[in-house]
Amino acid sequence: MKPVDSRDEWPSDGIEVLGCCPVCKGLSKDLVYSDQSDMVFKCAPGDWDLWQCNDCGCNYVDPRPDEGSTHLAYENYYTHGKVYVHDKYKNLSRLRKFKRRLVNGYLKHRYSKSISPLIALGKYLVYLLPKIRRRLDRTFRSMPMLPSKGGDLLDVGCGNGSFLYQAKEIGWRVNGVDFDSMAIEALRLDDMPVGHGGIELFSEERELFDVITLSHVIEHVHDPVFLLERCKDLLKPNGYLWIETPNSNSYSHSVFSSFWRGLEIPRHLTLFNYSSMRYALEKSGFNKVNVLKYTNPIESMFKKSYAISLGCSPYANIKLPIKYTVRMYLYKVIGLLVRSRSEYLSISAYK
Ligand SMILES: [Zn+2]
Repeated sequence: MKPVDSRDEWPSDGIEVLGCCPVCKGLSKDLVYSDQSDMVFKCAPGDWDLWQCNDCGCNYVDPRPDEGSTHLAYENYYTHGKVYVHDKYKNLSRLRKFKRRLVNGYLKHRYSKSISPLIALGKYLVYLLPKIRRRLDRTFRSMPMLPSKGGDLLDVGCGNGSFLYQAKEIGWRVNGVDFDSMAIEALRLDDMPVGHGGIELFSEERELFDVITLSHVIEHVHDPVFLLERCKDLLKPNGYLWIETPNSNSYSHSVFSSFWRGLEIPRHLTLFNYSSMRYALEKSGFNKVNVLKYTNPIESMFKKSYAISLGCSPYANIKLPIKYTVRMYLYKVIGLLVRSRSEYLSISAYK
């Protein structure tokens, strides 16, 4: 592992200047932070400026690493870990079998008619327990019901395949792509249909998928609108798109400013708020853009951002001081009503 060194500079021939917003091409901008180094994984050399577009509201890095050199920002990046293993029903304890059957009662009602074994009562129980329902809906990315003939799904940035396994288990025909070669190798050994790279692996294809999901991907790419346009091309008519990305308008960002966990410069190149995300989706031809309501990870984002402010790893076990704890709980309550300030933007849209 290579520690960050403020004397290190990004190679000058690997830097590109945008001069305008990567989302709307607007020229009007305000400086948000200057000379930001990689405070999260401490592996990317260089200091970077973050701008806010005055037209669409997104935040973007400019100048920034070009596509050819961007791998330098990922040398100490966390790997996606080992392949996700979903516990087989037969291996569960009696109590966990009972819980699984209750959950399946909800999943059959909401996601896939082919699920079994189940307790039908689970459907009603899960509706009475919103925290559990939101967790399940986030796990299954609020997808539409699996079509009776089955459906085709692509997870861009599939990582260790945890979502692919979950979706496969409820009946989807799954596909994944990711730049993490170790994760892809492990998934291939398990016969998962995955490709090494990004959405450009499907550059010649059209209308292949019923569902495409992007979990914490869009903030990393050089051309987010192009990514969305390709998703639209690859979706069948009325296809479903799901996106999750850090929210630049979150409470943790306003409290911790340049130490915000979501910044992660220069791996995160474009950061959205609700209005800029809606703009990007509509510009790319999507409609029925909907904000999804999941459990807000505000406690985790406060703790990680606070750790970064101390110069520590965001994953260090550091107790949040009382002054931040009070604000965190206050914002947690307000956040139940104001979804535009949630920590992540979780969005669905249709072609
Ligand atoms: Zn813009």
